Amino acid sequence: MTTPPGLPAHGRTRSEIFDDLQSFRANDLNWRSGRVFGYVYDAGADAEAIGKAAYLDYLGENGLDPTVFPSLLRLETAIVSTVAAHVGDANAVGHFTSGGTESILLAVKAARDLARARGVRSPRMILPATAHAAFHKAAAYLGVAKDVVEVDPVSFRALPAAIEAAIGPDTALVVCSAPSYAHGVVDPVEAIAAIAAAAGVPCHVDACVGGWLLPFMRRCGWTVPAFGLDVPGVTSISVDLHKYALCPKGASVVLYRDPAMRTAQTFACAGWTGYTVVNPTVQSSKTGGPLAGAWATLQAIGDDGYLERAQALCDATRTLVAGLAATPGIRVLGRPDFCMAAIAGEPLRPGDAPVSVFHIADEMKARGWYVQPQLGFGPSPANIHFSLNPGNVGAVSAMLDDLQAAVLAAAALPTGELVEALHAMLGDESATALGPDAVAELMAAVGVQGALLPERLAGINEVLQALPPDAREALLIGFFGVLYRGPAAGQA
Ligand SMILES: *Cc1c(COP(=O)(O)O)cnc(C)c1O
Repeated sequence: MTTPPGLPAHGRTRSEIFDDLQSFRANDLNWRSGRVFGYVYDAGADAEAIGKAAYLDYLGENGLDPTVFPSLLRLETAIVSTVAAHVGDANAVGHFTSGGTESILLAVKAARDLARARGVRSPRMILPATAHAAFHKAAAYLGVAKDVVEVDPVSFRALPAAIEAAIGPDTALVVCSAPSYAHGVVDPVEAIAAIAAAAGVPCHVDACVGGWLLPFMRRCGWTVPAFGLDVPGVTSISVDLHKYALCPKGASVVLYRDPAMRTAQTFACAGWTGYTVVNPTVQSSKTGGPLAGAWATLQAIGDDGYLERAQALCDATRTLVAGLAATPGIRVLGRPDFCMAAIAGEPLRPGDAPVSVFHIADEMKARGWYVQPQLGFGPSPANIHFSLNPGNVGAVSAMLDDLQAAVLAAAALPTGELVEALHAMLGDESATALGPDAVAELMAAVGVQGALLPERLAGINEVLQALPPDAREALLIGFFGVLYRGPAAGQA
């Protein structure tokens, strides 16, 4: 018998362990800098400390069985009823989940099972092209077929007519977003929900990113179209608390107008030798930390705290969008309805090629800013996404100054070299057919060494952009296989 590698032969001290944990972070994104426009939603030091302390305080409680931990039941029902009233129906029912993806998985499961109960053998769901990837994941996990429908190529909003045309006898669910992540635009929820209702089909609103903040923005005078459970025909909604409610990660809510739909979400099993399982959510044993962390954060920030943050975000969004619109070499995609925006490259001078957004992202990184490139898909060209949060509102003007310089620097850089190499390598072959050796060769060609990415990512992004979506997926799954091979193979 030998000691498993990585396990110390003798237990180590607290300070040794925390020194290590701290040092592991050396190359992490420094989100406390205020220079990061994605991934993190900063609650501010005071609320963060309270949320964290509550999280740790409830870490050991087990949400497996709410009858033996009534504290967790109480926290969950309190949070669910707050969010339900906030998004338009105080009588809605639902559950606290680990995140937007889980809320969406569960809403799709509920719709699928209700469709099956109506006799639909092969349930389908209608997704605008802008619907979050989590719905595609739900389709893959739950065996629900997808009808992906086009969106307006200028506003990037879902098209009610396209959805109406796609509804058929097997449609189990219609989806729309408030807002969709990529461009920050709110779909015409009222029109879509009315169409769904007329066809007798449930309609889910993905308000994961916007559901908590939009009502506060509306109270600040921001124009917010109706999107919640108060809209006739909306049957379920997902609202993440670990986004703009600024709660510690692992916090979302899924809500249903009709309790029968919530029932269809819950799984039970009495058919084994152990304890009877009743699971409203995907996990069974689960920590109470996220529930307590979320509840404490809502208590700590309070209505006035969220209103104040919403006002700052409304102001910063106006500054951001006006600044982006005034920057030569880029354009804003659609008209953002939320504190997010996406920009595509434009020719700097007539006759030039559009400036590469991938180079812009690298140039911003060189200037100490993190912005998120998004690959082109359907009518949406390759672009850079900005999410504002209370932690970066103060840096918007400085960011815009550097962005102007980054666009000019990017315009002077060559593009397309690796894409030519890719086409030479592929010949007539589809990239999805590439074997592991070819994937490794392609990775090496774009500068990836084992798990190490090159400093500049434009080449990789260009190659991904040049591939069809299924080949992008295959290539990145291959890359993750390399990444997760662990210290021996990867980081050595
Ligand atoms: C973030 C997000 C999701 C997925 O949520 P996770 O918490 O990352 O699982 C779904 N929809 C939209 C619109 C989002 O912004």
